[in-house]
Amino acid sequence: MSKILIIGHLNPDTDSITSAISLSYLQNKLGKNTEAVALGKPNEETQYALNYFKTEAPRVISRASDETKEVMLVDHNEFQQAVSDISELTVLAVIDHHRIANFQTINPLYYRAEPVGCTQTIILKLYKEHGIEIPPHIAGLMLSGIISDTLLFKSPTCTDEDIKAAQELATIAGVDLNDYGMELLKAGTNLSGKSAVELISLDAKSFEVNDKKIRVAQVNTVDFNDIFSRKEEIINAINEEISSNHYNLFLFVATNVLDSDSRIIALGDSYLSAERAFNIHLTENEGFLKGVVSRKKQIIPQLTVALSEETVSQ
Ligand code: MN
Ligand code: MN
Repeated sequence: MSKILIIGHLNPDTDSITSAISLSYLQNKLGKNTEAVALGKPNEETQYALNYFKTEAPRVISRASDETKEVMLVDHNEFQQAVSDISELTVLAVIDHHRIANFQTINPLYYRAEPVGCTQTIILKLYKEHGIEIPPHIAGLMLSGIISDTLLFKSPTCTDEDIKAAQELATIAGVDLNDYGMELLKAGTNLSGKSAVELISLDAKSFEVNDKKIRVAQVNTVDFNDIFSRKEEIINAINEEISSNHYNLFLFVATNVLDSDSRIIALGDSYLSAERAFNIHLTENEGFLKGVVSRKKQIIPQLTVALSEETVSQ
C-alpha cells in the first residue's frame, strides 16, 4: 500500500506545515501509513519553529498522484489552494478551519471543520479523542501553529479554545508561551533577504468571486518602513503577477504584529473595490486598515461583498 500523504495549502504557513506533521504523527500512531508533505518550503517563521523543536521540514511536492492515490488535507479545502492534481486523488480526510468553497469529492470522507483560530486546536482534540499522548516536540510545533495563526491571540479569529489549547501545549512543550510566541512572530518578520517577488508570494492565496480572480498576499512586520521603503519594487512585482495570471485584484497586506494594524497596496482593474470593502480612501493605491490583522475574517469576506456588488451594478 502506498503512503497516505498529508498536505497543507500552497505557500504554506506555520499552521499548514506543522498540522501536516502533527496529524501524520497521530494517524501513524493509529496504525495508518502517512507522511507529512508540503507544497513549498517553510517560511522564516516556520523554520524557526522547526529548528527550535528539532524537526525536519516536510518533503516538498508539487504533485501527489504519481506516488499515491490517497491524501488528507489540513488547513485548507479550496482546490485552488491545494496540490495541483487534487482532482485525481481521493481525499480521505479534511481537518480545517476555513470557509468551505470549491470543494467536492466523489467518495464519502472524514471532514472536520471548526470555526477556531487554528487547525492545531482541532488536531489537539483529535489526540484527546483517540487517547494519544503528544510528545513535547509535536506539542511545540502545534503551539507554533496556534501562535502564528492567531498572532499570539490578537487576531479576531482567535477563540478561547485556541488560548486554552496553546496553554496546554506550551506546558507539554516546556516553553514560556509569551516569550516563545514573541520570538516566533519576530522570526517571521525578517524579510530583509527577500526579493519583491518573494515578498508578494510568501503567504499569498487566490480566490474567485463570481468571475473575478483575486489574490491576497500577507506579510508580517514589526516596522512598516521595512516594507514600504521598497514600495516601487513591490508594485512592479505585483503588476507582473497581475499580467501573467490575469488577476482582477491583487491586494498586498503588510501586518504589524506589534500594533495589530495593516497597510495595503491594491492593484488590478478592480483595485477600487478595496476602497468600498474597507471604507477607506487609497492614496497612490495604498491604504491603512486600522485593527485589521486577519485575512480570513477582516479582508476576504469584505472583499467578497464589495466585488459581488461590483458585478451586480455592471
Ligand atoms: Mn494556513
Ligand atoms: Mn490555519
